[in-house]
Amino acid sequence: MSTRVEGRQGVRTTCPYCGVGCGLIVQPDGRGGAAIAGDPAHPANFARICSKGAALGETLGGEGRLLHPMLRQPDGKLARISWDVALDRVAHRFTEIVERHGPNAVAFYLSGQLLTEDYYVANKLMKGFVGSANVDTNSRLCMASSVAGHRRAFGSDTVPGTYADLDEAELIVLVGSNAAWCHPVLFQRMMLNKSLRRARLVVIDPRRTATAEEADLFLPIAPGGDTALFCGLLVHLAEAHALDYRYIDAHTSGFETTLARARSIAPDIAATACATGLASADVARFFQLFCASERVVTCYSQGVNQSAQGTDKVNAIINCHLATGRIGRAGIGPFSLTGQPNAMGGREVGGLANQLAAHMGFSPLDVDRVCRFWKAPCMATREGLKAVQMFEAVARGKIKALWVMATNPAVSLPRAGAMRNALKNLELFVVSENVMSNDTVDTAHLLLPAAAWGEKDGTVTNSERRISRQRAFLSPPGEARPDWWIVAQVARRMGFADAFGYVTPADIFREHAALSAFENDGTRDFDLSGLAAISDADYDALDPVQWPVRAGDQVEERRFFAAGGFFTPDRKAQFVPPEPPALKEETTSLYPFRLNTGRIRDQWHSMTRSGLSARLSMHRPEPFVEVHPADARAAGLADGAFARISTAHGACIMKVIVSDGQQAGSLFVPIHWSDATASCARVGDLVAPHTDPHSGQPEAKATPAAIAPVSFSLRGFVRTRHPLTFPQATWWARAAVAQCIEYRLATSLGPLHWHDFAQRVFAGRGRFADRLAGGTYSAGAFVDDELHGCLCVGPVDEPLQFALSAADGPDEDGSASARRLHESIRAAEPVVCACFQVKLDSVRKAIACGETSTLVQIGKKLRAGTNCGSCIAELKRLIKHERLAATQALAGTRLE
Ligand code: SF4
Repeated sequence: MSTRVEGRQGVRTTCPYCGVGCGLIVQPDGRGGAAIAGDPAHPANFARICSKGAALGETLGGEGRLLHPMLRQPDGKLARISWDVALDRVAHRFTEIVERHGPNAVAFYLSGQLLTEDYYVANKLMKGFVGSANVDTNSRLCMASSVAGHRRAFGSDTVPGTYADLDEAELIVLVGSNAAWCHPVLFQRMMLNKSLRRARLVVIDPRRTATAEEADLFLPIAPGGDTALFCGLLVHLAEAHALDYRYIDAHTSGFETTLARARSIAPDIAATACATGLASADVARFFQLFCASERVVTCYSQGVNQSAQGTDKVNAIINCHLATGRIGRAGIGPFSLTGQPNAMGGREVGGLANQLAAHMGFSPLDVDRVCRFWKAPCMATREGLKAVQMFEAVARGKIKALWVMATNPAVSLPRAGAMRNALKNLELFVVSENVMSNDTVDTAHLLLPAAAWGEKDGTVTNSERRISRQRAFLSPPGEARPDWWIVAQVARRMGFADAFGYVTPADIFREHAALSAFENDGTRDFDLSGLAAISDADYDALDPVQWPVRAGDQVEERRFFAAGGFFTPDRKAQFVPPEPPALKEETTSLYPFRLNTGRIRDQWHSMTRSGLSARLSMHRPEPFVEVHPADARAAGLADGAFARISTAHGACIMKVIVSDGQQAGSLFVPIHWSDATASCARVGDLVAPHTDPHSGQPEAKATPAAIAPVSFSLRGFVRTRHPLTFPQATWWARAAVAQCIEYRLATSLGPLHWHDFAQRVFAGRGRFADRLAGGTYSAGAFVDDELHGCLCVGPVDEPLQFALSAADGPDEDGSASARRLHESIRAAEPVVCACFQVKLDSVRKAIACGETSTLVQIGKKLRAGTNCGSCIAELKRLIKHERLAATQALAGTRLE
């Protein structure tokens, strides 16, 4: 394991995955790898890290990296070109298209993976110098509804609280958040509060997730029910005389109208239960807990945001906090948990098409202010196209040139397949990327090699407004360059050299901080005036700091709004009456299920980084669909079999997991697989393009869908050092295992076909041996007596194990390689504890044999759950389920 950094001073940096923003200490090994540990001094994590952060050292290899600028040739092949040629070409083609079609014919699509400095430069070029606001980001798919909700209520995109509130709350409410998997370190903080201070945890989610397993009260809400639930809560708070009229009168407006709307949506507990699909007793218990707890933090995440009613859901939550004055104090407040490492930084620089820089909007005053600060020759004066609209404009041919940076929209957008086809309409499609190939890169005209995490310098902002440094500890491979450098070079070649003369990221940060302070005078929340003159040395040494950082400000309090002071014209918060909740699209007899999408514990987005780690790959090695047992029975689906999930937009084939954590009538699929990692599991293809009217965020949790069994006669696996291409009729999914790639297969092609396939793929790779026995076909290639690659296919109902006997071996002397031939390999088994590679089967056996029935005992016996803690919730769930199964088995035996 490379998770300990001992003895020597390492490089302090920040994790590139989720919005928790954990501080890391990295110790490079001098060979391109590094040991990773949590930074004890970082206030986001105090040394804790999760399985993804702990495995970062395994993801630093150069495999698949884009090393040089590449230009696609007329024959579709890529040819290496110099940076000068590439940058000139991008600048010239963008300029020429703007001259021909106007500034709104071009667009940038950015990413919450970019650093703030990258984001700032791209946003400045497009909005101030090209003259279009067509700059949007994959954060639109992640948390745009929170931004819109904040701006409607607070007049600014302000997260009022801090992570310390999670330590001090009496009641933590998690809405649409599987924090145990998606924000694991924060979830451990919540669990610590629960065990030390007896905080109560309420989880509101259609699925009984690992997070829900830890709840004191779990509310399995119907899809789309959040607005009704929080309207019901507001009404109940009023009826129970639990409102803070002093706060409402002094610091808010619009309360009575909002309460009246809430009454029309959810007038009492019975109506709330009816509108949310919850039991009345559970609704009453939640309302009673909220009323009785002064220190309440309500955290919300993708389950709230990724909705065509997401902004109303956010405001329905905020309304309850404003009405009780529960905001901006220790242990109190609404709290948006951002998904990406720098979603917040992107918001700060205006990386969204409907914002300008430094939390300013498109009011004439703001446009004028930013224009004067930038000395911008061609300032955008109105909002640009949000992500889904932007790609629809590409499809309609309105956008002619697109530059995508650090994201994979051909996987992640709704109707991803149609969007990927639309990219072919572009006159110019530029992609800045780390990798040579992915679903998006494969259609680009021009590829620009970008420096990756660990190779570049800058800042990121986490969910609690804490700015942390990302620091380089590796040299970029080949000719890879930081994103800010690439954009600034293009800007210079477009004729804007004076405004883009940055030499270091510190230059950009100082300008960004100065803009936040420019004509601010306390009228805007985002203020880094205290950092506007930071020296290069201080920037290099910058400790994590929460904004605002006002010049001369000695105040330690970093929370907002305890005493009002909102950023609306009258400085009052605005209650927002939500629209009566209704999902955009009804289910039908053709598509009778609701399709819910989300993340899994050990993977990140489209797996271009996390998929390189063998230990992360084995938690959930194959794309899957979770189905309720009753639905599975009705559809003829068995656990471990395969199913086709279809919507009006596309279809995928996934492995079935039958789970009573899943609501009847709902299906859950993870978002991570793409055409690069599976044959038919790109979930974006399935998702409807409905968007929230305020935030533009797409609905990713409720597309009407159908499910049906798919049968294959054989299953198998291949281990190889090189990527392979499989026959069309074969289902496959790719995962990393130690030093090679493992493909899981499901197929109806017979053993003879696989004999030919194995001979072909292993030809020229050493000695070949194979065997057909009992319907199972095994083949292996041996180089210098080492197994170089192997293939095994066999009947679906039988355990699969690659094995050759010595007699099968082609070895001339029958010695060393014969011994190797006896080696047998199974497809890698699912892992529960990624740190110590503890397999699911081992945990089940340990519980079943009766020696281990508690978390502590499992930790002692198997070490599972004793390092990063990401698997603790899953271990607890396994203990509970295995005990239940044992009890049921015993009861069954007695009945017999
Ligand atoms: Fe990284 Fe895990 Fe921390 Fe998120 S919780 S920032 S993934 S270490």
